[in-house]
Amino acid sequence: MVEIVPIELETHFAEGTVNAFLVIGETITLIDTGNPGKESFQQLKTKLHKNNIDFKDIDQIILTHIHIDHAGGVPLIQNEVDVPIYVHEMARCTLNASFGDFERDMSFFRQFMEQCGADPLNHIVKRSFKEEKWRNVSYLKEGDMIQIGGQNFEVVYVPGHSQTDILLWDKETGDTFAGDHLVKAFSVNAFIEPPIPGTITRTMPLLQYRRSLSKISRLPLKRVYPGHGESFSDHLSLIQQRLLEQENRCEQIVNILSRGAKSVFEICTEMYPRLKDRMIFLGLSQIQGHIDLLETRNLLASEKRGSILMYRLMNE
Ligand SMILES: [Zn+2]
Repeated sequence: MVEIVPIELETHFAEGTVNAFLVIGETITLIDTGNPGKESFQQLKTKLHKNNIDFKDIDQIILTHIHIDHAGGVPLIQNEVDVPIYVHEMARCTLNASFGDFERDMSFFRQFMEQCGADPLNHIVKRSFKEEKWRNVSYLKEGDMIQIGGQNFEVVYVPGHSQTDILLWDKETGDTFAGDHLVKAFSVNAFIEPPIPGTITRTMPLLQYRRSLSKISRLPLKRVYPGHGESFSDHLSLIQQRLLEQENRCEQIVNILSRGAKSVFEICTEMYPRLKDRMIFLGLSQIQGHIDLLETRNLLASEKRGSILMYRLMNE
């Protein structure tokens, strides 16, 4: 048996806090690392010390995905110790990205904004290129087994929220680390991302997310430890709730489009009037995902008006 200790860390994001987990058994594993920066690093260090653990005691770090609030602590931790990092293989291109890759991604986001009818100058999340200097990284894939505290955990690939999301599932006990794939406190976004290197079209993250939810609904998970908020054990009813919320959003979009053709940005300002500036991307991503879903159901048609894609209901 392993002991699982939640380490709650503060973030500047709307979710408030992010969870890392300390798993203590035959070996010591840290699942996720919190945000970048000294403040979060110090908080993590203090909370580990409260459990009599120092960074040098940690045998491995496993990341549930590479969003910054989960993976951001890696560089400062590796400044102190050369601990091995495990992460899904889809993170490889991000971790090894060149300036050219970064520019290609930024131009994808500018085009996506324009196509939505938003203003890239006001609404794009400004980022600057930073070379990742992680060491000792090993890549995980679907079906891999990894020892955590002496227990065998299976890697279940669950893309959607990001392209690097994994669950770590102990078949014997049902204990599962879920990252942001399934969180009880809020419905997670399936973020629009640039095309995976080697492909030319963007991913369909909400469709991926729904396939991943359907996949894990067939697994007998027991206690689920998410990336934010409390652990839970009723993953099936939570999945049902999330699917229902998606249907409700689809219905809202259909209602809005019943009054005429609209861009994703126009739908966004009706559905999420309080989103402003760089937060707009969250709404655009959410709505584009649901539009992808409505398109697979042959309910929508689209046409270009200049650089903007306008959507309308198929039967109008
Ligand atoms: Zn995330």
